Amino acid sequence: MPIFEYFCPTCEKNFEILVFGNEKPVCPRCQSRKVKKLLSTVSHKSDSGFTSSQGSACSSCSSGSCSTCGSSSS
Ligand SMILES: [Zn+2]
Repeated sequence: MPIFEYFCPTCEKNFEILVFGNEKPVCPRCQSRKVKKLLSTVSHKSDSGFTSSQGSACSSCSSGSCSTCGSSSS
């Protein structure tokens, strides 16, 4: 599961997000695309279990499809 950690300079927050090969990471808070990829990759965090159900779950919610996930955007 390609979960990477990013830093948003706008929010000054770190966030973890699922990123696939042709997707651009966006900040789940401000939707900014100007995010920096951090070197520390986060492996499986199964504390809430959402990472093992589907590949489209976002890190800030547990629904699997929301505006921050962008999973339904063609
Ligand atoms: Zn942000």
